[in-house]
Amino acid sequence: RAKSAGGNRFEFADAEADARAITRHGLTNALPAALERGEFFIEYQPLVHLGDGSVHGAEALVRWSHPQHGVLGPDRFIPLAEHTGLIVPLGRWVMQESVRQARAWQEAHPSATDGGPLRINVNLSPTQLYHPGLVADTVEMLERTGLAPGALCLEVTESALIGADDDLLKPLRQLAEMGVDIALDDFGTGYSNLANLRRLPVSVLKLDRSFTQSMQQLPADPVDIKIVEGIVSLAHSLSLAVTVEGVETGAQAEQLKELGCDTAQGWYYARPGAPDRIHSLALVDAV
Ligand code: C2E
Ligand code: MG
Ligand code: MG
Ligand code: MG
Repeated sequence: RAKSAGGNRFEFADAEADARAITRHGLTNALPAALERGEFFIEYQPLVHLGDGSVHGAEALVRWSHPQHGVLGPDRFIPLAEHTGLIVPLGRWVMQESVRQARAWQEAHPSATDGGPLRINVNLSPTQLYHPGLVADTVEMLERTGLAPGALCLEVTESALIGADDDLLKPLRQLAEMGVDIALDDFGTGYSNLANLRRLPVSVLKLDRSFTQSMQQLPADPVDIKIVEGIVSLAHSLSLAVTVEGVETGAQAEQLKELGCDTAQGWYYARPGAPDRIHSLALVDAV
């Protein structure tokens, strides 16, 4: 850290920043043992069809139950794991656990939703995306659990794909050809090179929460409405589905549904939670 801060130049500058760096350092060092001791767990947040509110699937969101610091969100440790490479075994564990869980939901509720079996969304960071074992690991997990490739959606961010040449995109393309869905997460926050979309093996756009937030007040900003309308129409013309994240109110849900978005996720429907939550939501649907 001292090096990246420019030697000792900032030595006395900011005690708080130092404390944060020490915590980061400590967390980074603790990651491997935490994975071994099973301190990570996954919360699942439902994705619903905007049309009728039925459950479409769930996104897996990892957390760390730290013995001293309590439960830490992914923003606290994913960047650290990404930096040290621990993201590869951690991400493999998340995917394995999520795929197993999704299969368990499906077996418990074979026809729980009209839209077909429940799906599972798993986030991939750039290092995972470009790790040579990605395709083989994924295939192995799907085969071992019996989950259909079409029930798995891998979420990657635009920034992870920006500048990727065809060689780098090959594994993702292979997965897409097998039937795995690829979602562009946080869409609209990066460079959003729309022409680039044609080149990417993507089947879902996840509109970033910032768009949802601008639908907070009604009537929403007319410019934002135009932008979302444009994105939805472009996405649909390319046969991509549109998911919106961060839906916190019924008014937002109504507005985004009117604008043609397909699926949604947010506190309005449910916060991320234990896997049982999805069981009960799926059961409610089936009634
Ligand atoms: P993301 O993939 O964009 O996930 C959505 C984030 O929005 C989650 O934050 C979720 O808890 C939060 N959220 C959902 N609904 C609402 C809402 O209505 N309002 C607000 N304000 N927030 C909402 P979380 O769980 O803290 O995750 C943060 C990010 O960490 C994720 O963003 C994702 O990029 C990353 N992440 C999470 N799990 C994993 C993982 O297993 N592997 C990797 N590589 N990254 C992960
Ligand atoms: Mg995501
Ligand atoms: Mg997202
Ligand atoms: Mg996000």
